[in-house]
Amino acid sequence: MSGYDLHTHSTYSDGATSIEDNVAAAAALGLAGIGITDHDTTAPFEDASKAAEAAGIEAVLGTEFSAEEQGMSVHVLGLWIDPGYGPLAIELDRLRHERRHRAHRIVERFHALGIPVSFERVLALAGDAPIGRPHLAAAVVELKAARSVTEVFDRYLADGGPAYVPKHAVTPERAVELLVASGGVAVLAHPGLYGDRTGTEGLPSEVIERMCEVGLAGIEADHPDHSPAHRTYYRELAIALDLAVTAGSDHHGRGPQDHVGRATTPNEVVERLRGWRLA
Ligand code: AMP
Ligand code: FE
Ligand code: FE
Ligand code: ZN
Repeated sequence: MSGYDLHTHSTYSDGATSIEDNVAAAAALGLAGIGITDHDTTAPFEDASKAAEAAGIEAVLGTEFSAEEQGMSVHVLGLWIDPGYGPLAIELDRLRHERRHRAHRIVERFHALGIPVSFERVLALAGDAPIGRPHLAAAVVELKAARSVTEVFDRYLADGGPAYVPKHAVTPERAVELLVASGGVAVLAHPGLYGDRTGTEGLPSEVIERMCEVGLAGIEADHPDHSPAHRTYYRELAIALDLAVTAGSDHHGRGPQDHVGRATTPNEVVERLRGWRLA
């Protein structure tokens, strides 16, 4: 079996599909494994392990950890992390609380903009998952104040938008340190999607160099939303910094295009990452 989709979401965070469906989709495609990377949580690990064992593939248990650099959200994938490592568990817990406060503040912003989103409805849509902007966007769509989640992001919720409220999160370097200290491997997610999405460079390379100094192992150069220029730029940067080049679908289950296995990391690269962890 070949390749790993190292970046997926489920109903344990802001994805629309279950862990079981995601694992089954990866197995049906003949993948060797699937990264379990719900935002700021390790709650899916038990279900993911069971589903992967039944399907005969590997579940790479991880999280997509929220960090922040100058008001910009920066996501760091932590793979093979230990959910029992105290400092990491404490920070994830803090982030989930912060997400709830922030959702409340975003609801207030929508009210000020004349969109009467109900905080209770947002809580219900999120269920037990850490509340993310997609849950808020879904509540706005339900009110028919916009036609789609994408439209809500474009008009209100994208970084810097009128309803946007940043999360108070740790720096990208601190995120890498925590993930590595928990026994995991840290990979920078979709570096082209931070800041001004139109240029070639999203997250400035000096930030990536600082992350590298504290143990960053890879860069997700191949992401479905990266332009060809992003892919080339970050692939070359990864090679220059002697980091692994990874790929993942960032599946959220939002439509037929958005499927598990849409982007995969070759087995050799995954073995290199695994070795990084034991080194
Ligand atoms: P949060 O973690 O609450 O800051 O929300 C970030 C999540 O929102 C990302 O993981 C995506 O799932 C989603 N997202 C971010 N930007 C967009 C966008 N422009 N359109 C649709 N979804 C987006
Ligand atoms: Fe997400
Ligand atoms: Fe992300
Ligand atoms: Zn993601």
